[in-house]
Amino acid sequence: MDCAFETASKSNDELFTKISDHAKAAHNIEEVSPELKQKITGAIRKKLF
Ligand SMILES: [Zn+2]
Repeated sequence: MDCAFETASKSNDELFTKISDHAKAAHNIEEVSPELKQKITGAIRKKLF
């Protein structure tokens, strides 16, 4: 997904929840498919501290 959305979270579960909310709100994606989830996982950059 070509998107400049950035978010931060302590856990991956929380992160996916935030991403799902964004996908719904901004991209009209009702459900994050396994394929999309994989893409998201690949796009996650760990920015700790
Ligand atoms: Zn987006």
